[in-house]
Amino acid sequence: MKKNLFEKLDEKETRMVEIRRYLHQHPELSFQETKTAAFITNFYQGLDCEVQTHVGGNGIVVTIDSGFPGKTLAIRADFDALPIQEETGLPFASQNSGVMHACGHDGHTAYMMILGETLIELKNQFVGKIVILHQPAEETPPGGAKGMIEAGCLEGVDHVVGIHVMSTMPTGEINYREGAIQTGRSYFKLKIKGQGGHGSSPHLSNDAIVAASHFVTATQTIVSRRLNPFEMGVVTIGSFDGKGSFNVIKDTVNLEGDVRAMSEDTRKTIQEAVKRLVIGLESMFGVTCELTYNDDYPTLINDLELTDFIVRSLKQSKISEVTEIKRCDPQPPSEDFAYYAQERPSVFFYVGAMPENGVFYPHHHPKFEINEKSLLISAKAMGSVVCDYLNGGED
Ligand code: MN
Repeated sequence: MKKNLFEKLDEKETRMVEIRRYLHQHPELSFQETKTAAFITNFYQGLDCEVQTHVGGNGIVVTIDSGFPGKTLAIRADFDALPIQEETGLPFASQNSGVMHACGHDGHTAYMMILGETLIELKNQFVGKIVILHQPAEETPPGGAKGMIEAGCLEGVDHVVGIHVMSTMPTGEINYREGAIQTGRSYFKLKIKGQGGHGSSPHLSNDAIVAASHFVTATQTIVSRRLNPFEMGVVTIGSFDGKGSFNVIKDTVNLEGDVRAMSEDTRKTIQEAVKRLVIGLESMFGVTCELTYNDDYPTLINDLELTDFIVRSLKQSKISEVTEIKRCDPQPPSEDFAYYAQERPSVFFYVGAMPENGVFYPHHHPKFEINEKSLLISAKAMGSVVCDYLNGGED
């Protein structure tokens, strides 16, 4: 089945690239991807599968049932874009001003649609079911995965597998890691209220800028003094709104912070530390504080056994375009695939997509670009996993 699948995918590579370029030209922001969702839905019309639309928002669930009893594997591809003005200069650059596929989700969707179509053609050759999760809104909390799960997209599903193409990894490489692989994220907003006044008379006012500055410095001790040095955590104050006049003492300052951690325990430790600092700030400076603290995407944990199964499958498949399959370091960004992994044993792995000349821009950069060869590699890699998973590893 695998040989047959690879041959078909080779023949369809051009179409995969065409679909990716079409999606790249027509990006849509998280929770607004109605045209992309319609485009995907339309693609499956007339194919021998069951298509559910508007699953937890713009989500689409495509079920391919072999008709034979067996396990059910869900495979996921996200399809939203980012609020970024594209600067790649590509002939198929975004036609939507200020919106860009700058994370490769266009590639995920294109390879998944063609893989889906091909698996449908081969469906009498496997047992069990494949559930394709075309997921919207990965980029913006609360994310699209949560809504799809709440709408029941994992009912009857045994395991979930996802791929991310990576501009930072050489094309031809597949990278994996078991256990915690991407950070959990929280964010907070803090309003610090003092009392405004004239710059010449600090004794008649209460300077919110000084209190806020103290808070920024104090947060730097959370990671250095509160975390086990073998645990990973990050606290970033990304926004400090203290704009005003040079000789006016600021009444109110608003801060916004970003928190990352590699375990739920660490995430909790950081949250408690931030809350304690806020209480301290009030008594130290006599200001009043309003803290809004939210957890969003959890730490993404790859299942050990399933990772092992997938790595063996990828190695045995000898995909000609794959040069290396290797264990990588954890990746700093957060991913809402983590929600599937909380519900079912799951694995998320990476397909190298660095441009041929080795010059690459990171994800979410206005000049971000992927090597389109990564689409065929992704389709074959995910296809291999599906074949091995749904026929017990026999070819
Ligand atoms: Mn992404």
